[in-house]
Amino acid sequence: MGKPTGFMEQGREYLHKRPVEERVKDWKEYVLPFEPSHLKDQAARCMDCGIPFCHQGCPLGNIIPDWNDLVYRDRWREAIERLHATNNFPEFTGRLCPAPCENSCTLGMDVYKSAVNIKAIEVSIIDHAFQEGWVKPMPPAKLTGKKVAVVGSGPAGLAAAQQLARVGHKVTVFERADRIGGLLRYGIPEFKMEKRHIDRRMKQMEAEGVEFKVNANIGHNVPIDDLKKNFDAIVLCGGATQARNLPVPGRDLKGIHFAMEYLPQSNKVQEGDKIENQITAKDKHVIVIGGGDTGADCIGTAHRQGAKSVTSLEVLPKPPAERAADNPWPQWARILRVAGAHEEGGEILYSVSTKEFTGENGVVKKLKGVKIEWVPQPGGPPKMQEIAGSEFELPADLVLLAMGFLGPEKNPLFEKLGIELDQRSNVKGDSNKMTNVPGVFVAGDMTRGQSLIVWAIAEGRAAARGVDLWLMGETTLPSPL
Ligand SMILES: Cc1cc2nc3c(=O)[nH]c(=O)nc-3n(C[C@H](O)[C@H](O)[C@H](O)COP(=O)(O)OP(=O)(O)OC[C@H]3O[C@@H](n4cnc5c(N)ncnc54)[C@H](O)[C@@H]3O)c2cc1C
Ligand code: SF4
Repeated sequence: MGKPTGFMEQGREYLHKRPVEERVKDWKEYVLPFEPSHLKDQAARCMDCGIPFCHQGCPLGNIIPDWNDLVYRDRWREAIERLHATNNFPEFTGRLCPAPCENSCTLGMDVYKSAVNIKAIEVSIIDHAFQEGWVKPMPPAKLTGKKVAVVGSGPAGLAAAQQLARVGHKVTVFERADRIGGLLRYGIPEFKMEKRHIDRRMKQMEAEGVEFKVNANIGHNVPIDDLKKNFDAIVLCGGATQARNLPVPGRDLKGIHFAMEYLPQSNKVQEGDKIENQITAKDKHVIVIGGGDTGADCIGTAHRQGAKSVTSLEVLPKPPAERAADNPWPQWARILRVAGAHEEGGEILYSVSTKEFTGENGVVKKLKGVKIEWVPQPGGPPKMQEIAGSEFELPADLVLLAMGFLGPEKNPLFEKLGIELDQRSNVKGDSNKMTNVPGVFVAGDMTRGQSLIVWAIAEGRAAARGVDLWLMGETTLPSPL
């Protein structure tokens, strides 16, 4: 432990962000780097707990107290080695993770927001390492002669590919989109994570022997038989992007889109692409239905595109500011989480439900909704009930549906290979991440359902271990799962 009294002397310092009026005028990241001296004080708060509950929170098993201590002692090079030992891409998680580690940090036992600033320390370690030129390709000492196909280039696919290439397999990543990165590239907006971070990792991975093939939609324009013929193992990392619909009257009006029809176009424009008839929020009354990361990303994007108003609708009640009595530490805190996009304007309406959309000339103009309450039920979950007389209308020129995802998109390759799905239509994998088809593995959202980047990386690492073991009969690769 760096400083035994650190946590008593120093409170948690919050992330520094660019002022709202400045940041909504551009697409650059809005979180600013921490001052190194302040970071040292924050790292000193870690108590190196006998039972580090932060470990319990982190799906990757990051050895958090170790790198907190190393940052406190200015031993940054060792800190990045310790961090990279469990996480291939700390620059992604350090920017984007909701930090379940902080959620379970012992310092947050009484007041959730007192936890050690683990995420800021993580991103500072990796940014510092890149600046110093310490992050270098790690090509294998020798090749195994085995070939592995990874389908999908989100964080799960990238993590699996990097791990497998480093132990000597020839890895090819197939991606149906025109750029690599999955939801990191085309879901998450530039203002949360600039895409240069993905490009930099791709260069490293190419130097380690990974080959990337874009516009390669396996099961569609590239037959799965080609992969079976040419590769010794296949890892399916296709994500879970089947969006939940809102089948109410007026849903077919123009101007109502799934979030993942809207966000990728905006991200492509940031990459310099031209989009014909781009869906944009400019000068429009925008309604975002559904909260979570996807909803927040729609809100932030709409602000930057110059929306006239942005209203977000949430079916659940407003969460409390601190943990409720039935939600004690170290459980995941069901509290109000204010994303950067929420600070930038707009309004959130809680406990409301959408009844209907109305329009003119086939284009949406209004949303009709009603307030609801959640009525407790004996022995079951509360039931949603409309409040009589609480109907309301909102102007709506652009409606974005961000109500979650229902699992992987249907793909003929499942049937062709005879892949078993679970009850939620995710691809089933065993403890080594192998599907019911020998040599075909699965990782990330495709097997968990829509989840988090940190879980996708953990899944990718676990699948890489499973593949290596299956191909070689033994493995040195670690699995966090
Ligand atoms: C808008 C949005 C914002 C989010 N924000 C956050 C956040 O801030 N923090 C966080 O932790 N999580 C966030 N998430 C969740 C997170 O992005 C996902 O959990 C994570 O990306 C899953 O990784 P993955 O590799 O399993 O799948 P994905 O990232 O979905 O990647 C799957 C890839 O597979 C490709 N693919 C699919 N089928 C095929 C095929 N047949 N052939 C070739 N390629 C194929 C897809 O094109 C895609 O590129 C967000 C999700 C969304 C939708
Ligand atoms: S739980 Fe918090 S204080 Fe304890 S070791 Fe982990 S980061 Fe440090």
